[in-house]
Amino acid sequence: MINRRKTREIYVGNVKIGGDAPIVVQSMTDTKTHNIEETLNQINRLANAGCEIIRVAAPTEADALALPEIVKNSPIPVIADIHFSPRIAFLALESGIHGIRLNPGNINDKAKIKEILQECKNKNIAVRLGVNSGSLEERLLEKYGYPSGEALAESALYWSEFFESVGFTNFKVSIKGSDVLQNIEANKIFAEKTDVPLHIGITEAGGKEKGSIKSAVGLGILFYLGIGDTVRVSLTADPEEEVKTAYQILQSLGIRRRGVEIISCPTCGRIEVNLPKVVEQVEEKLKDVKSPLKVAIMGCVVNAIGEAREADIGLACGNKSAILFKNGQPLKRVSEDEMVDELLKEVQNMENIDKK
Ligand code: SF4
Repeated sequence: MINRRKTREIYVGNVKIGGDAPIVVQSMTDTKTHNIEETLNQINRLANAGCEIIRVAAPTEADALALPEIVKNSPIPVIADIHFSPRIAFLALESGIHGIRLNPGNINDKAKIKEILQECKNKNIAVRLGVNSGSLEERLLEKYGYPSGEALAESALYWSEFFESVGFTNFKVSIKGSDVLQNIEANKIFAEKTDVPLHIGITEAGGKEKGSIKSAVGLGILFYLGIGDTVRVSLTADPEEEVKTAYQILQSLGIRRRGVEIISCPTCGRIEVNLPKVVEQVEEKLKDVKSPLKVAIMGCVVNAIGEAREADIGLACGNKSAILFKNGQPLKRVSEDEMVDELLKEVQNMENIDKK
């Protein structure tokens, strides 16, 4: 049982973060933001994959000037990612944007940050206060010698207190290090001391395979500790992979369900059907199903009947055939050649029932 840390709630557009809201999945576009058409196409694809908030980079004035059109046409709330430049921040705040991300450590001008926060308050725009190991303040690097978890947490607490001291509370914090343990430690220290909602992620995690594993380990531990109100999995890959991976992590912990969860056995010498092929075909054919669905595909009778019974739908395979289960009940015996089609037919029936 996971006990989520109690946090205050904020809104990014119409999406609630913190409080009793589900953990929100977000991602970031990798298009040039000033290329409005490509950026909106990618946002639409990501929203379709389940992304609930999108962040876009705004490194130049041209990017900031593209924001009004992007915000107007995006199906999900948009956050502008601002680094170094208060001028770009003010431009973004004129665009109708739902949130901005700032790393105060790389602006490092309290008067300017205060002005930005005042404007965010006037316009009801949420802020993500970012602390990254790569942009930690000099004084903390001197104090700790390197960006340790403690140093990152101290920076996040320092800037949170500054935000609150100027009367701004509509913010969440992200503390990101590329080292998993440092990341966990920093988030843990921060979480114990405040009720500010946390955006979690393992930054610069790597490509699809290694990055997903690193993210699953780090984020899995944080979620288990009850930490994390919104998540972005950072991968050097198509952002749609980030969204899929985020749901897979949440799903593995029983926190959120979306789409198909396949439970399949690892196979062994008892196997009597080509299970990897069956699993691959089912995964491919069901990849666009959005409603939560547990599908068990087991290689032989040892665990098959029990697992298939626990799932919404399942195949308990045997000698070149399988028993098809639905809602825990055996439906019929199907041959190896027809098992995938029969399973898909039943999934379709279930989806139609859901829609009625
Ligand atoms: S379900 Fe059967 S085939 Fe699959 S791993 Fe277990 S014993 Fe082996």
